[in-house]
Amino acid sequence: MATIINGKELALSLKQRLAADVATFDAKYGRTPHLVVILVGEDAGSVSYVTGKAKASAEVGLRNTTIRKPDTITEAELLGIIDELNADSEVDGILVQLPLPKHIDSDKVISAISAEKDVDGFHPMNVARLWLKQECTLPCTPKGIIKLLKSAGVEIAGKNVVVIGRSNIVGLPVSKLLLNENATVTIAHSRTKDLADVTRRADILVVAIGRPKFVTADMVKEGAVVIDVGVNRDPETKKLCGDVDFAAVESKASAITPVPGGVGPMTICCLMENTVECFLRKMEKTNG
Ligand code: NAP
Repeated sequence: MATIINGKELALSLKQRLAADVATFDAKYGRTPHLVVILVGEDAGSVSYVTGKAKASAEVGLRNTTIRKPDTITEAELLGIIDELNADSEVDGILVQLPLPKHIDSDKVISAISAEKDVDGFHPMNVARLWLKQECTLPCTPKGIIKLLKSAGVEIAGKNVVVIGRSNIVGLPVSKLLLNENATVTIAHSRTKDLADVTRRADILVVAIGRPKFVTADMVKEGAVVIDVGVNRDPETKKLCGDVDFAAVESKASAITPVPGGVGPMTICCLMENTVECFLRKMEKTNG
């Protein structure tokens, strides 16, 4: 039976540590870090993510403002709000909840956020800095995955890692972070031939595709570490499930993340950490 890598527990202890740091900031810097989340429209998934971010901010002691706008907002109006937040010296982090309505160009919106306040790590400047190995804000989910692996004592250097998925928010950046940790990384995707042959070579398998229970036991090497990023509804039970058939793969893997309670809580926790890091970088700059 695999060890269950408990993201909920790790996220809780990291948030407690962050909260202890944040509690000292008022005395040191005269205020606490301020995260502004912009929510456009009423999509149930987005509303629940934004609520989770506000709750985590409260747990860590961050100031959180949620700006809610109807999905009729124009791109120009949204860009105007971002300009104001960029100029506000008491705003440290800006996050626009994705997806945005179709009439708004998400790339344009993300690029409009100041790279110094881009707590998601999606701004082109932060993406470039990640690939150049320069100081930057790392995207939350990939950052959380590395923390999970390290906390579970998984050795990454020299290992064969297969990442299924090549999205800008998960697959590509987590591949780069794993490469930085000296893994030998293979990126698989929807055009990969003989996917099971590729995945069976993985010592560490990271799955970020968005298909319920897609990875079955025959695709996993005995003793592999499996990180399941997927968040899906099981078509039969309607319950949350990952991209990995947990019940079948658990008996073959040496360690595995559950869904829920694995990668998800770490993503929010890293968002909190990113907000604190943006705040501290700003304070260092202002205080010389
Ligand atoms: P995405 O942008 O839709 O990308 C999915 C990737 O999976 C693509 O690269 C796609 O390949 C690949 N793919 C799709 N079907 C495949 C198949 N049959 N075989 C091999 N590869 C396949 O998704 P994403 O944003 O990366 O998210 C992936 C999943 O992670 C979703 O369930 C999402 O909800 C979840 N997620 C969770 C968190 C968290 O915090 N837990 C955070 C972000 C995302 P192509 O490039 O060839 O199309």
